[in-house]
Amino acid sequence: MIEQVPGKVDMDKLVSLCKRRGFIFPSSEIYGGLGACYDYGPLGVELKNNVKKAWWKTVVQERDDMVGLDASILMHPQTWVASGHVEGFADPLVDCKQCRQRWRADHVKDGKCPACGGELTEPRMFNLMFKTFVGPVEDKASIVYLRPETAQGIFVNFQNVLTSTRKKLPFGIAQMGKSFRNEITTGNFIFRMREFEQMEIEYFVKPGTDEGWFKHWVEARFNWYCDLGIKKENLRLRQHAKDELAHYARDCYDIEYLFPIGWSELEGIANRTDFDLKQHAKYSGKDLSYFDDETKEHFIPYVIEPSAGVDRSILAFLADSYDEEKDKEGLRVILRLHPALAPIKVAVLPLSRNEALLPLSRDIYNSLRKCWIVQYDDAQSIGRRYRRQDEIGTPFCVTIDFQSLEDRQVTIRERDKMRQIRVPIEVLKHTLEAKLCGEPLDVLPPGGKKWLGFEAS
Ligand code: ATP
Repeated sequence: MIEQVPGKVDMDKLVSLCKRRGFIFPSSEIYGGLGACYDYGPLGVELKNNVKKAWWKTVVQERDDMVGLDASILMHPQTWVASGHVEGFADPLVDCKQCRQRWRADHVKDGKCPACGGELTEPRMFNLMFKTFVGPVEDKASIVYLRPETAQGIFVNFQNVLTSTRKKLPFGIAQMGKSFRNEITTGNFIFRMREFEQMEIEYFVKPGTDEGWFKHWVEARFNWYCDLGIKKENLRLRQHAKDELAHYARDCYDIEYLFPIGWSELEGIANRTDFDLKQHAKYSGKDLSYFDDETKEHFIPYVIEPSAGVDRSILAFLADSYDEEKDKEGLRVILRLHPALAPIKVAVLPLSRNEALLPLSRDIYNSLRKCWIVQYDDAQSIGRRYRRQDEIGTPFCVTIDFQSLEDRQVTIRERDKMRQIRVPIEVLKHTLEAKLCGEPLDVLPPGGKKWLGFEAS
Protein backbone atom coordinates (compact mmCIF):
# COMPACT_ATOMS: atom_id res chain seq x y z
CA MET A 1 0.00 0.00 0.00
CA ILE A 2 1.54 3.30 -1.10
CA GLU A 3 0.48 6.63 0.41
CA GLN A 4 0.63 9.82 -1.65
CA VAL A 5 1.18 13.53 -0.90
CA PRO A 6 -1.04 15.66 -3.17
CA GLY A 7 0.96 17.78 -5.64
CA LYS A 8 4.06 15.60 -5.44
CA VAL A 9 5.00 13.19 -8.19
CA ASP A 10 2.75 10.17 -8.02
CA MET A 11 4.64 7.32 -6.35
CA ASP A 12 2.90 4.77 -8.61
CA LYS A 13 4.17 6.61 -11.69
CA LEU A 14 7.70 6.54 -10.34
CA VAL A 15 7.48 2.85 -9.50
CA SER A 16 6.17 2.05 -12.97
CA LEU A 17 8.81 4.18 -14.73
CA CYS A 18 11.50 2.44 -12.67
CA LYS A 19 10.19 -0.97 -13.69
CA ARG A 20 9.51 -0.15 -17.34
CA ARG A 21 12.86 1.49 -18.03
CA GLY A 22 15.00 -0.88 -15.97
CA PHE A 23 15.88 1.17 -12.90
CA ILE A 24 14.36 -0.93 -10.12
CA PHE A 25 12.56 -4.30 -10.07
CA PRO A 26 10.90 -6.16 -7.19
CA SER A 27 13.33 -8.83 -5.94
CA SER A 28 12.78 -12.41 -7.21
CA GLU A 29 9.65 -11.20 -8.96
CA ILE A 30 8.98 -14.41 -10.89
CA TYR A 31 8.34 -16.10 -7.52
CA GLY A 32 6.03 -13.34 -6.36
CA GLY A 33 8.74 -11.11 -4.88
CA LEU A 34 10.17 -10.84 -1.37
CA GLY A 35 8.82 -8.11 0.89
CA ALA A 36 10.84 -4.88 0.94
CA CYS A 37 13.69 -6.26 -1.21
CA TYR A 38 14.43 -4.72 -4.61
CA ASP A 39 16.85 -5.27 -7.49
CA TYR A 40 18.54 -2.48 -9.41
CA GLY A 41 18.29 -3.00 -13.19
CA PRO A 42 20.66 -1.86 -15.95
CA LEU A 43 19.92 1.86 -15.48
CA GLY A 44 19.40 1.58 -11.73
CA VAL A 45 22.83 0.14 -11.12
CA GLU A 46 24.41 3.06 -13.00
CA LEU A 47 22.36 5.57 -11.00
CA LYS A 48 23.23 3.85 -7.74
CA ASN A 49 26.94 3.74 -8.59
CA ASN A 50 26.80 7.43 -9.48
CA VAL A 51 25.15 8.37 -6.16
CA LYS A 52 27.83 6.46 -4.26
CA LYS A 53 30.60 7.94 -6.43
CA ALA A 54 29.30 11.46 -5.82
CA TRP A 55 29.22 10.87 -2.05
CA TRP A 56 32.73 9.35 -1.98
CA LYS A 57 34.09 12.20 -4.11
CA THR A 58 32.69 14.82 -1.73
CA VAL A 59 33.46 13.17 1.60
CA VAL A 60 36.73 11.32 0.85
CA GLN A 61 38.39 12.39 -2.41
CA GLU A 62 38.01 16.13 -1.93
CA ARG A 63 38.91 16.27 1.78
CA ASP A 64 42.28 16.02 3.57
CA ASP A 65 40.69 14.89 6.81
CA MET A 66 38.82 11.80 5.60
CA VAL A 67 39.77 8.24 4.64
CA GLY A 68 37.71 5.30 3.43
CA LEU A 69 37.02 1.79 4.71
CA ASP A 70 35.23 -1.34 3.54
CA ALA A 71 34.56 -3.61 6.53
CA SER A 72 32.91 -7.03 6.37
CA ILE A 73 29.17 -7.45 6.81
CA LEU A 74 29.53 -10.33 9.29
CA MET A 75 31.28 -9.21 12.47
CA HIS A 76 32.14 -10.71 15.83
CA PRO A 77 28.82 -11.03 17.70
CA GLN A 78 30.21 -9.12 20.70
CA THR A 79 30.25 -6.03 18.43
CA TRP A 80 26.48 -5.89 18.65
CA VAL A 81 26.41 -6.48 22.38
CA ALA A 82 28.82 -3.56 22.89
CA SER A 83 26.91 -1.30 20.49
CA GLY A 84 23.62 -1.96 22.29
CA HIS A 85 21.94 -3.57 19.27
CA VAL A 86 21.42 -7.02 20.86
CA GLU A 87 19.70 -5.42 23.84
CA GLY A 88 17.95 -2.48 22.30
CA PHE A 89 17.68 -2.49 18.48
CA ALA A 90 14.01 -3.30 18.57
CA ASP A 91 10.72 -1.83 17.46
CA PRO A 92 7.37 -2.29 19.26
CA LEU A 93 5.31 -4.75 17.24
CA VAL A 94 1.51 -5.08 17.32
CA ASP A 95 -0.68 -7.66 15.57
CA CYS A 96 -4.20 -7.13 14.30
CA LYS A 97 -6.46 -9.69 15.99
CA GLN A 98 -8.80 -9.59 12.99
CA CYS A 99 -6.71 -9.58 9.77
CA ARG A 100 -3.40 -10.72 11.36
CA GLN A 101 -1.32 -7.95 9.78
CA ARG A 102 1.66 -6.68 11.77
CA TRP A 103 2.46 -3.04 12.41
CA ARG A 104 4.99 -0.92 14.24
CA ALA A 105 3.12 0.41 17.27
CA ASP A 106 4.64 3.88 16.75
CA HIS A 107 3.33 3.93 13.14
CA VAL A 108 -0.29 3.24 14.13
CA LYS A 109 -2.31 6.41 14.62
CA ASP A 110 -5.49 5.67 16.60
CA GLY A 111 -4.73 2.28 18.17
CA LYS A 112 -6.67 0.47 15.42
CA CYS A 113 -5.34 -1.67 12.56
CA PRO A 114 -4.60 0.70 9.61
CA ALA A 115 -5.75 -1.98 7.13
CA CYS A 116 -9.09 -3.16 8.57
CA GLY A 117 -9.68 -1.09 11.71
CA GLY A 118 -9.46 -4.23 13.87
CA GLU A 119 -8.29 -4.45 17.46
CA LEU A 120 -4.53 -4.68 18.03
CA THR A 121 -2.53 -6.78 20.49
CA GLU A 122 -0.36 -5.24 23.21
CA PRO A 123 3.01 -4.14 21.77
CA ARG A 124 5.94 -6.53 22.16
CA MET A 125 9.54 -5.71 21.30
CA PHE A 126 10.92 -7.19 18.10
CA ASN A 127 14.68 -7.17 17.37
CA LEU A 128 15.38 -5.99 13.84
CA MET A 129 18.66 -7.83 13.35
CA PHE A 130 18.79 -10.81 10.99
CA LYS A 131 20.55 -13.80 12.53
CA THR A 132 22.54 -16.50 10.83
CA PHE A 133 25.23 -19.03 11.78
CA VAL A 134 28.94 -19.31 11.04
CA GLY A 135 30.25 -22.83 10.45
CA PRO A 136 28.30 -26.05 10.13
CA VAL A 137 26.62 -26.19 13.55
CA GLU A 138 23.50 -24.13 14.08
CA ASP A 139 23.80 -23.51 17.81
CA LYS A 140 23.83 -20.47 20.06
CA ALA A 141 27.62 -20.21 20.04
CA SER A 142 27.74 -19.81 16.25
CA ILE A 143 25.12 -17.05 15.90
CA VAL A 144 26.22 -13.99 13.93
CA TYR A 145 24.17 -11.05 12.69
CA LEU A 146 23.86 -9.39 9.32
CA ARG A 147 24.96 -5.86 10.20
CA PRO A 148 22.03 -3.46 10.72
CA GLU A 149 24.33 -0.47 10.07
CA THR A 150 27.83 -0.02 8.66
CA ALA A 151 29.01 2.28 11.48
CA GLN A 152 30.23 -0.41 13.87
CA GLY A 153 32.74 -1.64 11.27
CA ILE A 154 34.30 1.82 11.53
CA PHE A 155 34.50 1.93 15.33
CA VAL A 156 36.14 -1.49 15.61
CA ASN A 157 38.77 -0.36 13.08
CA PHE A 158 39.47 2.98 14.74
CA GLN A 159 42.92 1.96 16.04
CA ASN A 160 43.86 0.14 12.80
CA VAL A 161 43.12 3.24 10.74
CA LEU A 162 44.79 5.55 13.22
CA THR A 163 48.07 3.61 13.32
CA SER A 164 48.18 2.79 9.60
CA THR A 165 47.43 6.33 8.36
CA ARG A 166 49.00 8.36 11.21
CA LYS A 167 45.99 10.69 11.04
CA LYS A 168 45.62 13.40 13.65
CA LEU A 169 42.32 14.60 15.10
CA PRO A 170 40.02 15.80 13.72
CA PHE A 171 39.63 13.13 11.05
CA GLY A 172 36.92 10.88 9.78
CA ILE A 173 36.33 7.46 8.27
CA ALA A 174 33.75 6.92 5.54
CA GLN A 175 32.18 3.66 4.57
CA MET A 176 29.35 2.57 2.33
CA GLY A 177 27.75 -0.80 1.96
CA LYS A 178 24.86 -3.14 2.64
CA SER A 179 22.90 -3.14 5.87
CA PHE A 180 20.02 -5.40 6.85
CA ARG A 181 17.01 -4.77 9.07
CA ASN A 182 14.02 -7.01 9.52
CA GLU A 183 11.66 -4.04 9.27
CA ILE A 184 8.08 -4.55 10.43
CA THR A 185 6.30 -1.88 8.42
CA THR A 186 7.32 -1.73 4.77
CA GLY A 187 5.54 -0.90 1.55
CA ASN A 188 6.78 2.50 0.42
CA PHE A 189 8.93 1.21 -2.45
CA ILE A 190 12.65 1.68 -1.71
CA PHE A 191 12.03 4.06 1.22
CA ARG A 192 12.14 1.25 3.78
CA MET A 193 13.83 -1.95 2.72
CA ARG A 194 15.02 -5.04 4.55
CA GLU A 195 18.30 -5.07 2.60
CA PHE A 196 19.63 -1.62 1.76
CA GLU A 197 22.80 0.41 1.45
CA GLN A 198 24.13 3.09 3.74
CA MET A 199 26.79 5.78 3.37
CA GLU A 200 28.15 6.52 6.82
CA ILE A 201 30.84 8.73 8.31
CA GLU A 202 32.34 8.65 11.79
CA TYR A 203 34.19 11.92 12.31
CA PHE A 204 36.45 11.85 15.37
CA VAL A 205 37.14 15.09 17.23
CA LYS A 206 38.61 16.36 20.46
CA PRO A 207 35.89 16.72 23.14
CA GLY A 208 35.00 20.39 23.40
CA THR A 209 35.28 20.94 19.61
CA ASP A 210 32.34 18.64 18.90
CA GLU A 211 29.64 21.30 18.67
CA GLY A 212 31.45 23.22 15.92
CA TRP A 213 32.11 20.06 13.94
CA PHE A 214 28.50 18.94 14.39
CA LYS A 215 27.34 22.20 12.83
CA HIS A 216 29.88 21.80 10.02
CA TRP A 217 28.58 18.35 9.10
CA VAL A 218 24.91 19.30 9.26
CA GLU A 219 25.60 22.09 6.76
CA ALA A 220 27.94 20.05 4.57
CA ARG A 221 25.50 17.19 4.24
CA PHE A 222 22.50 19.46 3.58
CA ASN A 223 24.46 21.21 0.82
CA TRP A 224 25.47 17.91 -0.79
CA TYR A 225 21.84 17.18 -1.71
CA CYS A 226 21.33 20.74 -3.01
CA ASP A 227 24.52 20.61 -5.08
CA LEU A 228 23.24 17.45 -6.73
CA GLY A 229 20.07 19.19 -7.81
CA ILE A 230 17.52 18.60 -5.04
CA LYS A 231 15.28 21.65 -4.71
CA LYS A 232 15.87 23.48 -1.44
CA GLU A 233 12.17 23.82 -0.74
CA ASN A 234 11.92 20.02 -0.64
CA LEU A 235 14.58 19.69 2.07
CA ARG A 236 14.46 20.67 5.72
CA LEU A 237 16.37 20.09 8.94
CA ARG A 238 14.63 18.69 11.99
CA GLN A 239 16.35 18.77 15.36
CA HIS A 240 15.55 15.84 17.63
CA ALA A 241 13.73 16.73 20.81
CA LYS A 242 15.51 15.89 24.08
CA ASP A 243 13.25 12.87 24.70
CA GLU A 244 13.99 11.50 21.21
CA LEU A 245 17.76 11.49 21.70
CA ALA A 246 19.62 8.33 22.67
CA HIS A 247 20.89 8.66 26.27
CA TYR A 248 24.50 9.18 25.10
CA ALA A 249 23.74 11.58 22.21
CA ARG A 250 24.25 15.31 22.65
CA ASP A 251 22.42 16.44 19.57
CA CYS A 252 20.86 15.01 16.43
CA TYR A 253 19.40 16.49 13.25
CA ASP A 254 17.51 14.69 10.52
CA ILE A 255 17.76 15.99 6.98
CA GLU A 256 14.21 15.44 5.79
CA TYR A 257 12.94 15.34 2.22
CA LEU A 258 9.40 15.88 1.03
CA PHE A 259 8.94 12.37 -0.40
CA PRO A 260 5.71 11.48 -2.23
CA ILE A 261 4.72 9.88 1.11
CA GLY A 262 5.41 13.10 3.07
CA TRP A 263 8.32 14.67 4.97
CA SER A 264 10.61 11.85 6.09
CA GLU A 265 14.18 11.22 7.14
CA LEU A 266 16.76 11.12 4.40
CA GLU A 267 19.86 11.27 6.58
CA GLY A 268 20.59 11.56 10.30
CA ILE A 269 23.51 13.50 11.79
CA ALA A 270 24.27 12.78 15.44
CA ASN A 271 26.80 13.90 18.02
CA ARG A 272 27.37 10.51 19.67
CA THR A 273 30.00 11.75 22.17
CA ASP A 274 32.54 9.05 23.18
CA PHE A 275 29.87 6.37 23.70
CA ASP A 276 30.79 3.95 20.91
CA LEU A 277 34.57 3.89 21.38
CA LYS A 278 34.14 3.59 25.15
CA GLN A 279 31.75 0.66 24.75
CA HIS A 280 34.09 -1.19 22.36
CA ALA A 281 37.06 -0.51 24.66
CA LYS A 282 35.08 -1.95 27.56
CA TYR A 283 33.85 -5.08 25.76
CA SER A 284 37.07 -5.85 23.84
CA GLY A 285 39.48 -4.93 26.61
CA LYS A 286 41.53 -2.94 24.05
CA ASP A 287 42.74 0.62 24.48
CA LEU A 288 40.84 2.80 22.01
CA SER A 289 42.11 6.13 23.28
CA TYR A 290 43.91 8.79 21.26
CA PHE A 291 47.23 10.35 22.27
CA ASP A 292 47.48 14.07 21.63
CA ASP A 293 51.14 14.91 20.77
CA GLU A 294 50.74 18.55 21.68
CA THR A 295 49.04 18.30 25.05
CA LYS A 296 50.50 14.84 25.87
CA GLU A 297 47.03 13.69 26.94
CA HIS A 298 45.22 10.41 26.30
CA PHE A 299 41.49 10.69 25.71
CA ILE A 300 38.60 9.00 23.92
CA PRO A 301 37.54 11.17 20.97
CA TYR A 302 33.98 12.34 20.47
CA VAL A 303 32.32 11.36 17.23
CA ILE A 304 29.96 13.07 14.80
CA GLU A 305 28.01 10.60 12.68
CA PRO A 306 26.36 11.62 9.39
CA SER A 307 24.44 8.53 8.31
CA ALA A 308 22.71 8.46 4.92
CA GLY A 309 20.82 5.85 2.92
CA VAL A 310 21.82 5.16 -0.68
CA ASP A 311 18.38 3.90 -1.65
CA ARG A 312 16.49 6.70 0.10
CA SER A 313 18.74 9.22 -1.65
CA ILE A 314 17.95 7.53 -4.97
CA LEU A 315 14.22 7.80 -4.24
CA ALA A 316 14.69 11.50 -3.42
CA PHE A 317 16.76 12.15 -6.58
CA LEU A 318 14.19 10.37 -8.74
CA ALA A 319 11.18 12.06 -7.13
CA ASP A 320 12.79 15.50 -7.30
CA SER A 321 13.90 15.22 -10.92
CA TYR A 322 10.68 13.75 -12.32
CA ASP A 323 8.85 16.19 -14.58
CA GLU A 324 6.18 16.15 -17.28
CA GLU A 325 5.56 18.63 -20.09
CA LYS A 326 2.64 18.70 -22.48
CA ASP A 327 3.62 19.24 -26.12
CA LYS A 328 2.35 18.64 -29.65
CA GLU A 329 3.18 14.96 -29.49
CA GLY A 330 1.55 14.37 -26.14
CA LEU A 331 3.45 14.12 -22.89
CA ARG A 332 7.21 14.59 -22.52
CA VAL A 333 8.44 12.81 -19.37
CA ILE A 334 11.78 14.10 -18.17
CA LEU A 335 14.09 13.04 -15.38
CA ARG A 336 16.02 16.25 -14.77
CA LEU A 337 18.83 14.39 -13.03
CA HIS A 338 22.12 16.15 -12.30
CA PRO A 339 24.62 15.07 -15.02
CA ALA A 340 26.82 13.46 -12.34
CA LEU A 341 23.92 11.15 -11.44
CA ALA A 342 22.43 10.46 -14.88
CA PRO A 343 22.89 6.75 -15.73
CA ILE A 344 23.58 7.47 -19.41
CA LYS A 345 25.63 10.62 -20.03
CA VAL A 346 25.33 10.79 -23.81
CA ALA A 347 23.16 9.09 -26.43
CA VAL A 348 24.47 8.74 -29.98
CA LEU A 349 21.63 8.93 -32.48
CA PRO A 350 22.16 8.63 -36.25
CA LEU A 351 19.34 10.53 -37.95
CA SER A 352 18.25 7.36 -39.73
CA ARG A 353 19.33 3.76 -40.26
CA ASN A 354 20.72 4.69 -43.66
CA GLU A 355 23.94 2.72 -44.25
CA ALA A 356 25.84 5.86 -45.20
CA LEU A 357 25.54 7.19 -41.62
CA LEU A 358 26.63 3.96 -39.96
CA PRO A 359 30.48 4.15 -40.03
CA LEU A 360 30.69 7.72 -38.72
CA SER A 361 28.01 7.10 -36.07
CA ARG A 362 29.74 3.94 -34.81
CA ASP A 363 33.11 5.75 -34.76
CA ILE A 364 31.69 8.54 -32.63
CA TYR A 365 29.96 6.03 -30.35
CA ASN A 366 33.14 3.99 -29.88
CA SER A 367 35.18 7.06 -29.13
CA LEU A 368 32.75 8.54 -26.56
CA ARG A 369 32.09 5.29 -24.69
CA LYS A 370 35.74 5.24 -23.63
CA CYS A 371 34.87 8.23 -21.41
CA TRP A 372 31.28 7.65 -20.28
CA ILE A 373 28.35 5.28 -20.30
CA VAL A 374 26.94 6.05 -23.74
CA GLN A 375 23.92 4.56 -25.50
CA TYR A 376 23.55 4.01 -29.25
CA ASP A 377 20.01 4.10 -30.55
CA ASP A 378 18.85 4.04 -34.15
CA ALA A 379 15.36 2.55 -33.72
CA GLN A 380 12.28 4.65 -34.64
CA SER A 381 11.99 8.39 -35.32
CA ILE A 382 14.50 10.86 -33.90
CA GLY A 383 11.71 12.52 -31.87
CA ARG A 384 10.81 9.23 -30.15
CA ARG A 385 14.46 8.56 -29.43
CA TYR A 386 14.89 11.99 -27.80
CA ARG A 387 11.81 11.22 -25.65
CA ARG A 388 13.23 7.86 -24.60
CA GLN A 389 16.44 9.55 -23.45
CA ASP A 390 14.59 12.37 -21.65
CA GLU A 391 12.63 9.83 -19.66
CA ILE A 392 15.80 8.22 -18.29
CA GLY A 393 17.58 11.52 -17.64
CA THR A 394 20.26 11.49 -20.36
CA PRO A 395 21.63 15.06 -20.37
CA PHE A 396 22.92 15.11 -23.97
CA CYS A 397 22.12 13.49 -27.30
CA VAL A 398 24.50 13.64 -30.26
CA THR A 399 22.81 13.47 -33.64
CA ILE A 400 24.63 12.52 -36.83
CA ASP A 401 22.94 13.58 -40.07
CA PHE A 402 23.80 13.54 -43.76
CA GLN A 403 25.39 16.96 -43.56
CA SER A 404 27.77 15.55 -40.93
CA LEU A 405 29.33 13.44 -43.68
CA GLU A 406 30.12 16.64 -45.61
CA ASP A 407 31.08 19.17 -42.90
CA ARG A 408 32.30 16.80 -40.09
CA GLN A 409 29.95 18.49 -37.64
CA VAL A 410 27.26 16.99 -35.38
CA THR A 411 24.38 18.33 -33.28
CA ILE A 412 24.37 18.23 -29.49
CA ARG A 413 20.86 18.43 -28.04
CA GLU A 414 20.38 19.03 -24.33
CA ARG A 415 17.60 17.51 -22.26
CA ASP A 416 16.12 20.31 -20.16
CA LYS A 417 15.26 23.02 -22.72
CA MET A 418 15.87 20.90 -25.82
CA ARG A 419 18.33 23.47 -27.20
CA GLN A 420 20.81 22.39 -29.84
CA ILE A 421 24.30 23.40 -30.89
CA ARG A 422 26.36 22.21 -33.82
CA VAL A 423 30.01 21.39 -33.18
CA PRO A 424 32.96 19.96 -35.15
CA ILE A 425 33.48 16.26 -34.43
CA GLU A 426 37.11 16.88 -33.50
CA VAL A 427 36.04 18.95 -30.46
CA LEU A 428 32.95 16.89 -29.58
CA LYS A 429 34.51 15.00 -26.68
CA HIS A 430 35.93 18.11 -25.05
CA THR A 431 32.71 20.02 -25.57
CA LEU A 432 30.65 17.26 -23.93
CA GLU A 433 33.15 17.03 -21.08
CA ALA A 434 32.78 20.75 -20.37
CA LYS A 435 28.98 20.64 -20.64
CA LEU A 436 28.77 17.62 -18.31
CA CYS A 437 30.79 19.62 -15.78
CA GLY A 438 28.26 22.45 -15.97
CA GLU A 439 29.52 24.81 -18.71
CA PRO A 440 26.53 26.64 -20.25
CA LEU A 441 25.40 25.26 -23.60
CA ASP A 442 25.84 28.57 -25.41
CA VAL A 443 29.60 28.61 -24.77
CA LEU A 444 30.69 27.34 -28.15
CA PRO A 445 33.94 25.61 -29.14
CA PRO A 446 35.90 26.96 -32.17
CA GLY A 447 33.78 26.35 -35.27
CA GLY A 448 30.64 25.63 -33.24
CA LYS A 449 27.31 27.38 -33.77
CA LYS A 450 23.99 27.79 -32.04
CA TRP A 451 21.33 25.67 -33.67
CA LEU A 452 17.75 25.18 -32.56
CA GLY A 453 15.98 26.38 -29.47
CA PHE A 454 18.00 29.50 -28.70
CA GLU A 455 16.39 32.94 -28.58
CA ALA A 456 17.24 34.81 -31.81
CA SER A 457 20.03 37.26 -31.06
P1 ATP B 1 13.81 5.26 10.36
O1 ATP B 1 13.45 6.15 11.54
O2 ATP B 1 13.26 5.72 9.05
O3 ATP B 1 13.59 3.80 10.65
P2 ATP B 1 16.46 5.28 11.34
O4 ATP B 1 16.46 6.52 12.16
O5 ATP B 1 16.35 3.96 12.00
O6 ATP B 1 15.39 5.41 10.18
P3 ATP B 1 19.24 5.32 10.89
O7 ATP B 1 19.50 4.15 11.75
O8 ATP B 1 19.58 6.68 11.38
O9 ATP B 1 17.73 5.29 10.41
O10 ATP B 1 19.93 5.04 9.47
C1 ATP B 1 20.54 6.06 8.70
C2 ATP B 1 19.95 6.15 7.32
O11 ATP B 1 19.92 4.87 6.71
C3 ATP B 1 18.52 6.65 7.28
O12 ATP B 1 18.47 8.06 7.31
C4 ATP B 1 18.05 6.11 5.95
O13 ATP B 1 18.46 6.95 4.87
C5 ATP B 1 18.79 4.79 5.83
N1 ATP B 1 17.91 3.68 6.25
C6 ATP B 1 17.69 3.25 7.51
N2 ATP B 1 16.83 2.22 7.49
C7 ATP B 1 16.51 1.99 6.20
C8 ATP B 1 15.68 1.05 5.53
N3 ATP B 1 15.03 0.12 6.20
N4 ATP B 1 15.59 1.12 4.18
C9 ATP B 1 16.26 2.06 3.48
N5 ATP B 1 17.06 2.96 4.06
C10 ATP B 1 17.20 2.94 5.40
